[in-house]
Amino acid sequence: MPEHFYARLSPTAVKAPRLIKLNEALARELNLDPARLITPEALEVFAGNRVPEGAAPLAQAYAGHQFAGFSPQLGDGRAILLGEVIDINGRARDIQLKGAGPTPFSRRGDGRAALGPVIREYIVSEAMHALGIPTTRALAAVTTGEWVMREEPLPGAVLTRVAASHIRVGTFQFFAARGDVAGLTHLADYVIARHYPEARAAANPYRALLEGVIRRQAELIARWMLVGFIHGVMNTDNMTVSGETIDYGPCAFMDAFHPQTVYSAIDQRGRYAYQNQPGIAVWNLTRLAETLLPLLADDKEAAIADAEDALARFETHFEAAYGTGFLAKLGLTAQRTDDEALAQDLLARMDAGNADFTLTFRGLCDATADDAHDDDVARLFDDPATFREWALRWRARIAEEGGDAPARRAGMRAVNPAFIPRNHLVAEVIAAATLNDYAPFERLNAVLAHPYDDQPGNARYALPPEPHEVVHQTFCGT
Ligand code: AMP
Ligand code: MG
Repeated sequence: MPEHFYARLSPTAVKAPRLIKLNEALARELNLDPARLITPEALEVFAGNRVPEGAAPLAQAYAGHQFAGFSPQLGDGRAILLGEVIDINGRARDIQLKGAGPTPFSRRGDGRAALGPVIREYIVSEAMHALGIPTTRALAAVTTGEWVMREEPLPGAVLTRVAASHIRVGTFQFFAARGDVAGLTHLADYVIARHYPEARAAANPYRALLEGVIRRQAELIARWMLVGFIHGVMNTDNMTVSGETIDYGPCAFMDAFHPQTVYSAIDQRGRYAYQNQPGIAVWNLTRLAETLLPLLADDKEAAIADAEDALARFETHFEAAYGTGFLAKLGLTAQRTDDEALAQDLLARMDAGNADFTLTFRGLCDATADDAHDDDVARLFDDPATFREWALRWRARIAEEGGDAPARRAGMRAVNPAFIPRNHLVAEVIAAATLNDYAPFERLNAVLAHPYDDQPGNARYALPPEPHEVVHQTFCGT
């Protein structure tokens, strides 16, 4: 890529690195031998003390709208890309160190990451993967033996992140903001080749690229909504063009269902609340479309019409993915006219009744055949009768559809997880890790690797927090 796309530099070495986690399954997927990644040499690589052979590390430039305010230059301020590998499926994957020291894009930041946010990103990104949701991955986490200054001194850590690529909506904005159409074209061609090769055959490949990103993001956000995930900082620099979830900061899963839920301490006005996520995605994709205008058509009016037409498809893709996904959560396949009302009615009752999102849907799996298990679900609602009323209508709808009850239950259990990375569990793991006890981290990861299985010995990990365990705010930790 042209030189103004990045700054070449090596990570800054740390004092006393220690491996806290290697993701062996991911290592194998990347065609790397896990045995060679637990060596002292590999630890030095994960800590940024040594650059692996063949790597030419760099920090990528990007811009972005943060809470709707535009910064023409952000960039990797604490992340350094080591390079890419080809995985066992023949796909290129980026390997990046997050927290690897200052870069020319750090501004006043220290280029470092604290242990808590590294652990949170490790747990939540791997949980998302296990849920089947496109995401960047975590290959390794190390502590640095150094302290980072936040509100208080915290142990430092480095996360090795793996991504289809680290190209963001904000990467396109970086070149658009400079009027650099040549750079923009180069970037768009690269993204087409890497992520949307089918777009090359289209009448207008850039239009196909825009439509491709819109479609993948619509499907991604639908997947988030279906498991109660709140990203927390959907700035345009935190949205990939590959369609993977990226940049796990103050992210969180909802316990009780309330659509206006927001946890992030820096989101005082709720811009990135759960229910706003589809609308914010459209807002971000509109910013992407704006950058592509010079490539869409020579005539500006025609380019805008093209962009608007592409953006209008978000809703169709989102509704299709969300609608089908929601039906599957209810054990239904064929969409009927009243189904949306049935779904919305359940959500309204959950909201009013403080019902736990994950447990309600998991409970429905057992309640499909008859009402013998209704009590287990009804007791999740402040007023159990509100669920029972709804369940009568739901069961009538199931009877209309017919089909085999065990098969329906199995299908529902494959889309309604029992285990999500609940905030209080993540907080508990981080607190233990800060005291040098990583056993809870290991246990939680192991549970979350199989979110759709019943794990009788691990029942406590499925439970919502007790009142004194509730986490009200999350922090991005930057
Ligand atoms: P984020 O909120 O993590 O998406 O980061 C927004 C911007 O701030 C990006 O350009 C980051 O690279 C930068 N940044 C975040 N934390 C730090 C840090 N500790 N040191 C330097 N830059 C940072
Ligand atoms: Mg970011």
